[in-house]
Amino acid sequence: VRIEDMSDTGEGIGKTDGFIWFVKDAVIGDVVAAKVMKTKKSYGFARLIQVLEPSACRVTPRCPSARQCGGCQLQNLPYSEQLLHKQRQLVSLLGEFCHVNDIFGMDEPTHYRNKVCAAFGLDRQRHIISGIYQTGSHSIIPVDECMIEDKIADGIIVDIRNMLRSFKIQAFDERTGTGWLRHVLVRRGFQSGQVMVVLVAVSPIFKLQKPFLKKLTELHPEITTVVLNINDRFGPVVLGSREKVLLGDGYIEDSLLGLCFRISPRSFYQINPVQTEKLYSIAIEMAGLTGKELVLDAYCGVGTIGLCAAGKAGQVLGVELNRDAVKDAIINAKLNSIKNCWFTAGDAGKYMEEMSTGGKRPDVVFMDPPRSGSSPQFLSSLLRAAPKRIVYISCGPDSLRRDLDVLVSGGYRVSRIQPVDMFPYTNHVESVCLLTKSK
Ligand code: SAH
Repeated sequence: VRIEDMSDTGEGIGKTDGFIWFVKDAVIGDVVAAKVMKTKKSYGFARLIQVLEPSACRVTPRCPSARQCGGCQLQNLPYSEQLLHKQRQLVSLLGEFCHVNDIFGMDEPTHYRNKVCAAFGLDRQRHIISGIYQTGSHSIIPVDECMIEDKIADGIIVDIRNMLRSFKIQAFDERTGTGWLRHVLVRRGFQSGQVMVVLVAVSPIFKLQKPFLKKLTELHPEITTVVLNINDRFGPVVLGSREKVLLGDGYIEDSLLGLCFRISPRSFYQINPVQTEKLYSIAIEMAGLTGKELVLDAYCGVGTIGLCAAGKAGQVLGVELNRDAVKDAIINAKLNSIKNCWFTAGDAGKYMEEMSTGGKRPDVVFMDPPRSGSSPQFLSSLLRAAPKRIVYISCGPDSLRRDLDVLVSGGYRVSRIQPVDMFPYTNHVESVCLLTKSK
C-alpha cells in the first residue's frame, strides 16, 4: 500500500481498491507491505511488515525502542516534517474558523520533559525492570534513556533500579500482587535545578529507608526532596492519595517567565518549560490586558497563567479542581508578592455558572482544560458572562473544535490561532486561540 496521508494519531494512511488502511510506523510517501490486523466496514488497521520504497522524508528513529514503546508516534519523520504534519492537522480541523499561524517549534526538540514517570515490575526471569508502558498495554518496555525525557531524571531512575537489587527491595508484581515499588516519578525544575523523587509503593512500610536515602542522595546530590506515595489500588492512576515526605520539603520550586512556582507531587505542571514560556507569552499577549481587567484563569493548575498575567490585570481569579494545586497556587501568589490573585478549589463549570448568575462578569477568561475539553455547563455560563476576550489553550484539537463551535454559535469569533509544539516526536498538539465578541 502507498501511504498518502497521516492520521491525527500518527499512523500512515493508504488505500487499496478504495479501502482505507491505517498503518502504524508508516509515513507519508512510503510504499509498504503490511499485515491486516483488523477490518471495519470501510477501513482497517494493518501492521507494518516492510518498507518497500521509503518516503523521501523517512528517517531512521533515533530511539531503539521507538516501535515497541509507541510513545513517540512521529519518530520516523524529521522534526521539520513533524511540525508540518501538526500544522496540516490543525489547518484541516480549525482552518474554517480562522487562519492558523505557523506552529512554534523547538530549537532543540529532545530531552524536553521535566517530569519522568517510570513503571517498575519484573520480567519473565523475575529481574527488576523499569521503563515505559507500551502504548495501549500494560507491559513495561525497559528504558534507561529516553530521547524526550530529562537525562538527569532518567539517570536517577536507573540508579534506583540498581539500588533495589542491592537493598533487596522488590518491585511490585501485578500478576502475583507481591513486591513493593510500583513507580518512580522524578520532577526537575529546569531553572531552579531542584529535583523531586516520588517513590510510589503499595505500602508505607519502607524497610532500610535511611540507608536507601543516604545512598541515593550520595549518588545524586541534586535531589532536594523525596516523597513516598502510597498506591494500593489497581488501575491506571499512578499516584495514590496518601503521601509521606521522607526528605526535604515535599515539593520543588521552579521559575517561568521570571516568577517562582511551587509544585507538589500531585499538582499539574507543564512538562515542557521551554515551550511553556512561549505558550504563556502568546496567551497573555492575546488577552490584550491594560491593567484594569477582571481576569478568570479557569483550569489554573498551580496558578501559572493567572500569576504571569497578574501584573497586567486588575484582578485575577483562578479555579482548579485539584486541591493540592490550589494550595500551591495560593502560596505561589505569596512567593511572588502578587496581591491581586485569588484561587478557589472546585469544578470550573460550577464556578463559572455561579460567577455568571451572581452578575460578576470577567473581562477576560483564560481557559486551559484537560484534553477532553470543557464542559457544557462551563461553556453556557461563559457565554452568559460574555467576557470581551476568551483565550482558549488546548492540548486536545478535537475537543477544541467542538468547544469552539459552541462559542462561535454563541456569538464569538475566532480571531487568532497559534499552535505551539509542546510535545515533539509525539502526536500531541497544543494550540492557543483568541475569541472575541463578534458584533
Ligand atoms: N493552566 C494550568 C493547568 C492546565 S492542565 C497550566 O498551564 O499549568 C488542566 C488542569 O485542569 C489540571 O490542573 C486539572 O487538575 C484541572 N481540571 C480538570 N478538570 C477540571 C474541572 N472540571 N474544573 C477545574 N479544573 C479542572
